Amino acid sequence: MTSDELLTRHKTVLPSWLALFYEEPIEIVSGSGRRVTDSSGREYLDFFAGILTNAVGYDIAEISDAIRSQVDTGILHTSTLYLIRNQIELAEKLAELSGIPDAKVFFTTSGTEANEAALLLATQYRRSNQVLAMRNSFHGRGFGSIAVTGNRGWSATSLSPVNVSYVHGGYRYRGPFTGLSDADYIKACVEDLREVLDTMTAGDVACLIAEPIQGVGGFALPPDGLYGAFAEVLAEHGILFISDEVQTAWGRTGENFWGITAHGVTPDMMTFAKGLANGLAIGGVIARGDVMDCLTAKSISTFGGNPVATAGAKASLDYVLDHDLQGNAAKLGAVLRDGLTEAAARHDVLGDVRGKGLMIALEFVEPGGRKPSPRAAAHLTEEAKARGLLVGKGGLYDNVIRVAPPLTLTEAEATEGLEILRESIAVVDETAKKEST
Ligand code: PMP
Repeated sequence: MTSDELLTRHKTVLPSWLALFYEEPIEIVSGSGRRVTDSSGREYLDFFAGILTNAVGYDIAEISDAIRSQVDTGILHTSTLYLIRNQIELAEKLAELSGIPDAKVFFTTSGTEANEAALLLATQYRRSNQVLAMRNSFHGRGFGSIAVTGNRGWSATSLSPVNVSYVHGGYRYRGPFTGLSDADYIKACVEDLREVLDTMTAGDVACLIAEPIQGVGGFALPPDGLYGAFAEVLAEHGILFISDEVQTAWGRTGENFWGITAHGVTPDMMTFAKGLANGLAIGGVIARGDVMDCLTAKSISTFGGNPVATAGAKASLDYVLDHDLQGNAAKLGAVLRDGLTEAAARHDVLGDVRGKGLMIALEFVEPGGRKPSPRAAAHLTEEAKARGLLVGKGGLYDNVIRVAPPLTLTEAEATEGLEILRESIAVVDETAKKEST
């Protein structure tokens, strides 16, 4: 069957809002290392899968073998009513890595459910449904997680089960505090937070939820220390701090295992998902023991922490730690960022290059200013694809390219991807200039 036929069937039977990427969407049929092959036999270097699902890489023998041996027992899942050894072992490991005192872990099947669980815990613990969230954030596609998502382009509803106030700080390239030094920016954002709290019943706010680097928001990067400064204010009122680590965990930022560590604060809760099991559905919450134990429910998930997903997660986590993939993210992230920063200096269409480790953003603007250019970003994805490279898109204005290769990226692949990006940026820049004259 051709991709065209499959596309027609997709459009007929799947929801109209299930967005597809690229003018000619692709069907990926196999993968190895950092490369995937589509149904026409075309190979691509994948610089997006890292924060989507395949954090480590495709077809990693140690991970596939661990999943296979669980499947070979005949047990894909039983029930969380029984003891699940893989789940307990994984929870112990994550609790230890989290640094959260008396940490307990609850597993879900996605990031959305992880954040729903964290919001449930925070609102129940504090007996309040007032919550703080960041502008330009993304936390999922459930009723509560949509409500704390500060980006209407990604929200399926404007109705809300929680009473949310949004705080400034995540997206520094735009907004009222652009151009300030790190220290002044943090000061301004803390003042803003205090003012927002004055508009609420501060003693009755459940939590603040924030991504250390805003993923869907276009890898928007606040200065280190911002959330530490926020946490001090929150502590004055007993407000819980939730770090959404769905995109920033597992050493992706290069400098730390968790994104939030750069802010010098240990959160009350962390949520995780996406690449932990390198493609299998898993998510979860790590919380202070007293917060986790505040619910009286028997369970809030059927498939969360099932034996197959937790086998994959344990093997992926071991692989990340045993091969110092955090170190690899730091080293090759610097190569990519330096190369792209140098390209930005030569091309007006690139307004900002930012990121940490293997999480790098290219923000496209109309030449000669800062007006967002979603057209240029879309053009870049097509040019890169035509040259055999897959990248992601995001940002409040859909004008940011997200570069996030699997953590096992090699130096040769970093150079190859960088070259394709450079060529593609040059073409996009030229086109944008022609269109603006
Ligand atoms: N939080 C963040 C920071 C995310 O990036 C995402 C997914 N893009 C989610 C939560 C939701 O995860 P999922 O799609 O697994 O529900």
